Amino acid sequence: MNSPADSWRAFPAAQQPQWPDGEALRSATGWLSAAPPLVFAAECDLLRRRMAAVARGEAVLLQGGDCAETFARTTTEAIRGTLKTLLQMAVVLTHATALPVIKIGRMAGQYAKPRSSPVERRDGVELPSYRGDAVNGLEFTAEARRPDPARMRRMYESSAMTLNLVRALTTGGFADLRQVHAWNRGFVAGSRAGERYEELAGEIERSLAFMQACGVDTRELGTAEFFVGHEGLLLDYESALTRAEPGSGRSYATSGHLLWIGERTRDLDGAHVEYFSRVHNPIAVKIGPSATPDSVLGLVDRLDPRREPGRLTFVVRAGADRVRDTLPVLVEKVTAEGALVCWVSDPMHGNTVTAASGHKTRSFDTVMEEVRGFVEVHRELGTHPGGVHVELTGDDVTECVGGGNAVLPEDLHHRYETACDPRLNHAQSLDLAFRLAEMYRD
Ligand code: PEP
Ligand code: MN
Repeated sequence: MNSPADSWRAFPAAQQPQWPDGEALRSATGWLSAAPPLVFAAECDLLRRRMAAVARGEAVLLQGGDCAETFARTTTEAIRGTLKTLLQMAVVLTHATALPVIKIGRMAGQYAKPRSSPVERRDGVELPSYRGDAVNGLEFTAEARRPDPARMRRMYESSAMTLNLVRALTTGGFADLRQVHAWNRGFVAGSRAGERYEELAGEIERSLAFMQACGVDTRELGTAEFFVGHEGLLLDYESALTRAEPGSGRSYATSGHLLWIGERTRDLDGAHVEYFSRVHNPIAVKIGPSATPDSVLGLVDRLDPRREPGRLTFVVRAGADRVRDTLPVLVEKVTAEGALVCWVSDPMHGNTVTAASGHKTRSFDTVMEEVRGFVEVHRELGTHPGGVHVELTGDDVTECVGGGNAVLPEDLHHRYETACDPRLNHAQSLDLAFRLAEMYRD
C-alpha cells in the first residue's frame, strides 16, 4: 500500500469509474502489471530536460490531439493526420521563434474522461455518462455505458498501436524536415492557412538547399523528436503500469511521457496528487479560473518540492474573459516561491459554449483571445509564455466555429465527430499556429 504505485489508495480518488466486478478489475490490472512499459524512463528523463528548457524560456511546447481518443479511430489515417498537423504547426512556430519546439501528442493514451455529471439524460432516459473508451462505450445504451475493466487492456493495446506508428513515422523518414511540403498534401486545398504554409515550406526548402550547397550535412533533420501524453485519470490503469527503474530505484508512469492532472482531480488531499508526487515523469496540472494562489503553491510543494525546472507544468485554462485577471497573481506567487515551472495555455476548456443547434462548440476567435491574454500577461511580467495545449485533429471536421476557412454555426452538424469536446480542424490548427507565431514575434 505504501509503494509509490499504491500509496494513492489511502486518499479519496475523484472521477473514478464504478467498476461493477472486482474479479474483472483484478484480472485487467494483473495483466497490465505484467505488460511491457509503453514508454521508457530515459525518454521521460529526456522530456524533463526538454521541459526544463521551456521553463527557462529557451524552448516552446506544442501539445495537441483529440479530446478523447477512441478505439475505432486508432487508424493510420487518423494518427498520421494528427501527427502531420502537429509537425506543420511546429515548423511554423520554430520559424517564428527560432526556438526548439517540443512536440507532445495528446495521443496514445487519451482514453479516459472526467465528467461534470455522472449521468446523462436524453428524452427522459438517464444513463451513466460516457467516461472515455477506457471505461465504457459512447453509444447511448445501458449495455454500452456499463463500465468494463477489460477496456483498460484495450486502452493499453490501442496506445501501443498508436505509439508504434508514431515512432515509425517520426524516425522512419516521414517527419524529415526535407518533407516539409509533403505534410500539407491530402489536406483540404484552398485554405488561407494552407497557402501561407506552402509559402513558408518553400522558404524552408530553399534554406535547406542553400545549406546543402554550402556543404552542411542536413541528415540530422531526418527524424523528429516526439513525445506522447494524456490525462492520468484512471489510477487503476496508471498504477498497474508504474515501473521502478532498476538503476535509480525511481518510479515512472510508463503509460506516457508526460501525464497531466485535470482541473477536476487536482485536489491537494486527493489520490491523483498523491500518485503523481511519487513518479518521476514530467507532470502537468490544469489550472482553471477558480485556482487560488494557495492551491497552486500547494501543488508546487507537493509535485515539485525540489524546485527542479522541467518537473512541473501549469496548463492554464482560465477562459478568454478571465485569463488576464486570474493569471498574473499565480505567476507572481509561483515565481516568488523560487519555482521555475512551465506555463502553458490551454485556450479550449475555459471557452466551451453550446450552439443554438445544441452542439458543444468553441469559437476560434475566443480561443485566440485566450492565447493572446496568456501571452500578454507573461510579457508584462517578464516571464515566458511556454506554449499551447490544444484539442485538434488533422480531419476536416466542423466542431469549432470560425477560423480562416470559417466554420459557421449552421455547419456544425456536417462533420461533428468528436467523442467528447470540439476540436480544431486542420486549417484552424494551422491558423492558430500562424497567429501564435505572430504573437511570439511581436
Ligand atoms: C481535457 O483536457 O479534456 C479536460 C477535461 O480538461 P480540464 O481538466 O482542463 O477540464
Ligand atoms: Mn477536452
